[in-house]
Amino acid sequence: MSSDGTDVRVDYTRVFTQAIDRLHAEGRYRVFIDILRNKGMFPNARCFAGHNGPKPITVWCSNDYLAMGQHPKVIEAMEEALHDVGAGSGGTRNIGGNTHYHIDLEHELADLHGKESALLFTSGYVSNEATLSTLAKILPGCVIFSDELNHASMIAGIRNSGCEKRIFRHNDLAHLEELLAAEDPSVPKLIAFESVYSMEADIAPIAAICDLADKYNALTYLDEVHAVGMYGARGGGISEQEGVADRLTIIEGTLGKAFGVMGGYIAADQTIVDVIRSYAPGFIFTTSLSPVLVAGVLASVRHLKSSSVEREGQQASATLLKTMLDDAGLPVMMGDTHIVPIMVGDPVKAKRISDILLAEYGVYVQPINYPTVPRGSERLRFTPGPSHTPVMMRELTDALVEIWSRLELRKAA
Ligand SMILES: *Cc1c(COP(=O)(O)O)cnc(C)c1O
Repeated sequence: MSSDGTDVRVDYTRVFTQAIDRLHAEGRYRVFIDILRNKGMFPNARCFAGHNGPKPITVWCSNDYLAMGQHPKVIEAMEEALHDVGAGSGGTRNIGGNTHYHIDLEHELADLHGKESALLFTSGYVSNEATLSTLAKILPGCVIFSDELNHASMIAGIRNSGCEKRIFRHNDLAHLEELLAAEDPSVPKLIAFESVYSMEADIAPIAAICDLADKYNALTYLDEVHAVGMYGARGGGISEQEGVADRLTIIEGTLGKAFGVMGGYIAADQTIVDVIRSYAPGFIFTTSLSPVLVAGVLASVRHLKSSSVEREGQQASATLLKTMLDDAGLPVMMGDTHIVPIMVGDPVKAKRISDILLAEYGVYVQPINYPTVPRGSERLRFTPGPSHTPVMMRELTDALVEIWSRLELRKAA
């Protein structure tokens, strides 16, 4: 109590409740949909949103882009590993958790990108955060050049490095060069960017960014999370497809999206990998991935190195869906990638469309709101894969057309 008798103590519950209320007021409170995927039948799944038992749905927003999460080779490898060595790794890489599966997978990933070495992390998020924050700390005075649309995990790594950063406009080479040229030639520089931007569905000019890196003596860090497994003859990403992998200092990827399981990694030359392995807290002080997961990833990476059926199926599905949505006059963003976003531009409407799709049409697509995308650019993001059929696409398109007219939404120009 204060001297006049009013209660001045912090009301913690009130602060937390107000934080949640702000999200509701903006229409961007996040509701997680409760589902179970049906192995062997994906994108079919069951949804537990209603009251009378699970309802069948079609999943349109999964990052298991190639349905590798249900591939028989992956399942079999995981079952075998479980029966052979049990559930968990039992430790950090340094203390008891360095299994032969981890070593094999790192060799496989280094080979995938034509690099000397690779290093596993528990997720793509951790690989970005741990690598960027550690790298920039090791380089005194380092300045990081970061694309304005970089993923939250890269932003966290850059922030935690404590170093200077310069944000360049999305995929804008002239702006990047202007910022590079303004720095002292003697300071260490690192350019951090993505190949496929998963919310925009566009691709960075990798070779041209490498040219700038050469000119200004900068290191390059490329997040290929939304490309590994899906682009390049062996699934090495856009850098493989464009023949520029050897020009990049570090390539980062996830094992949880197209590879269908879980984990993250970097691939680089041996010295850099050794530095991150030796200095990054996010690598050192955490239990290594379960060998069961690693065995599944190994099977997935090996399969996608030699099979292009899944990649071709995905590209065909994406092209077909984009054409159908565009023909129907829906404001689809026509990129060169497998991702199919429809711009809504309002968080409340994006959520409303998503709610109707799920409740009335059994279509599951999550609305994408701030801070995942900038405010005013809220959207629906569809990720058709090799197992989405033309019939499913027709149903989706018809449903969207009906909802667009019911809610009087803006059609394509
Ligand atoms: C999903 C994502 C990550 C994080 O990968 P996880 O394995 O899911 O942690 C990193 N970068 C980008 C661009 C992503 O979209």
